[in-house]
Amino acid sequence: MRAEDELNFLRGKDQEALDKAGIRTVGQLLDWLPKRYEDRRQFDSFPAQAGGDALCLRGKVIDSMRKRLGGGRGFYEVVLEEQGGNFFGGGTVACRWFNLPFVHRMVAVGHEVVIYGRVKEVGGRLVIDHPEFEVVEAGVGSIHLDRIVPIYRGLSGLPQRRLRELIWDACQEVEPDSLQATYEVDASYPRLEAYREIHFPEALEQAEAARRRFALEEFFQIQIQVLWRRQHHRQQEGRIQGKSTGLLTEFYRALPFDLTDAQKRSVKEIIADLRQPRAMSRLLQGDVGSGKTFVAMCSMLMAVDSGHQAALMAPTQILAEQHWLTFRRWLTPLGVKVGLLTGNREEEADGADILIGTHALIYERAEFERLSLVVIDEQHKFGVLQRGRLVKQGQTPDVLVMTATPIPRTLTLTLYGDLDVSILDERPAGRGKIITGVRVKPKVTEVTKFLKEELGKGRQVYLVYPLVEESDSVKALSAVTEFEKWKKRLSRWEVELLHGQMAAEEKESVMARFRSNEAQVLVATTVVEVGVDVPNATVMIIWNAERFGLAQLHQLRGRIGRGEHKSYCVLATDGKSGLEKLEVMAATDDGFEIADADLKLRGPGEVLGTQQSGLGDLRFVDFLADVELIRESRRLAEELLERDPQLEGYPALRNIAALGKEVSGC
Ligand code: ADP
Ligand code: MG
Repeated sequence: MRAEDELNFLRGKDQEALDKAGIRTVGQLLDWLPKRYEDRRQFDSFPAQAGGDALCLRGKVIDSMRKRLGGGRGFYEVVLEEQGGNFFGGGTVACRWFNLPFVHRMVAVGHEVVIYGRVKEVGGRLVIDHPEFEVVEAGVGSIHLDRIVPIYRGLSGLPQRRLRELIWDACQEVEPDSLQATYEVDASYPRLEAYREIHFPEALEQAEAARRRFALEEFFQIQIQVLWRRQHHRQQEGRIQGKSTGLLTEFYRALPFDLTDAQKRSVKEIIADLRQPRAMSRLLQGDVGSGKTFVAMCSMLMAVDSGHQAALMAPTQILAEQHWLTFRRWLTPLGVKVGLLTGNREEEADGADILIGTHALIYERAEFERLSLVVIDEQHKFGVLQRGRLVKQGQTPDVLVMTATPIPRTLTLTLYGDLDVSILDERPAGRGKIITGVRVKPKVTEVTKFLKEELGKGRQVYLVYPLVEESDSVKALSAVTEFEKWKKRLSRWEVELLHGQMAAEEKESVMARFRSNEAQVLVATTVVEVGVDVPNATVMIIWNAERFGLAQLHQLRGRIGRGEHKSYCVLATDGKSGLEKLEVMAATDDGFEIADADLKLRGPGEVLGTQQSGLGDLRFVDFLADVELIRESRRLAEELLERDPQLEGYPALRNIAALGKEVSGC
């Protein structure tokens, strides 16, 4: 049989069950991976008490009964006896299945079974409810016993045993040459062998080695797409710019502080790119507060100095306006024209040297004739597609993407793998410390007292709430309601409200008052999450902090600790959930550590949104553990593209690579 063969040679019933799970070919059957393994050479002994980890037990059914409860609910119970192992009189365990009318037809007195589940105590007896179970028959060379046995995610209508047999058969009979990958990442370890070892390993290390082999294949396919895209972008002719540095020098001179070494290094790397005839595509990665804006400013000045235009795209209106203010403050004195273009505001956009805007930029007006550099701030807020969209305007401008989302390095190499990377790994000197504390149900009077102290010292405060308005369905505090209370509690200071449902002008005027310290307290929702920069604000209290994700909390906290004063972040929670992630926040302010924890707690699909990331189909990879594999796959992909840049010898792979290009829009 061959991998591409349909499964219609199977019994109708089996085929139907597989078909329902989307398994139609021999290859797909082989790709149905075990969810775990049971070592059936050595079973656990029958328990003497409840509790502990799940156990894997082997025993004989000595009794069975079906019981009806009230309300039509029924259950089936069997009593299992340990065989031979327990010479103090044989342990027993009862197993119960509720509302599963089929189980009694499958397990009966006299059967030998293997069960897997957690033991609890019910009415003085040891019981396992809803164990995974399998009837076994001892026999020579059985694949179900006396070995490490794969356990699959159940398929309705197809017992474990049967599924295991089908996969075993496929492993034995499939033609090795039909299992060829689009590209052989490891010729010394044939795929057939890896399939046999991932399904029926002789040791668990073998299964892990096989998983890694397949993971390498998956990463390789991503890398081929990523590098293909990069190659494609690099072939685009770009403008040579950045020869003259007059403006930049003037700008440096006017700055009251020195750029950090990391900022200088990044600017250098960018200038080197700008001077190349090919188009730049570079990622500037730096944690919140590391000073990405000034690096962008320097780069954009270089473009302007070459007689071109530069654009900066921000994810929100507030952020666009803030950038516009910052840019004007520093660049207007140098004679640089800075315009603003957002969904509902336009200032001096015509003929601007530098245009700051929201994504309205992409959709509405992109006829900048001299556009030669595009900077995209907080890339994670845009889809990959939009990045591509802007790049298509004009004549292949240089592109600088900036992100603070501390994404795990493994993901940087995959998601942004087509970009060159500059990293801001140091924060500007002279920053006050941030102290973070988790507080379960803090007393409002105490919080108020603390706030009054800090406000009394002249500092400013963020109070962040998960909801705009109270809601019947969500039990959490809201900005609108709490705002009224804080106005009374902190009546000596100006308290303002900021949330996403307010009109744009209103939002901007609130921000302006907070920025200029006319307002000292900002009661807000996550609209302040990204990029907002008010160095005198040193206190942030996040209410119902358990409702926010780790990345979000990190971004929020990044709003404080931006000035010389000590800052305080309080994560207030009801203590019912999410404590684990709040403790992560208290323990570290390193964005990468937080990203790793986030990935561990939620998985890559959740963290990135699988659709956007295009990482939804991966089955073998383990993003936290497989850094080395990603590097290896990148090396393999680079090697191949060097040998065969157009992948002429690998038409199937070429299709995959080109597909990636279209999907991401770059
Ligand atoms: P982010 O990387 O989060 O976008 P910003 O560019 O907003 O960071 O910078 C954060 C704050 O640090 C701003 O108030 C900015 O003026 C200040 N800043 C940036 N670079 C320096 C520096 N080299 N020295 C001192 N302050 C700096
Ligand atoms: Mg920023």
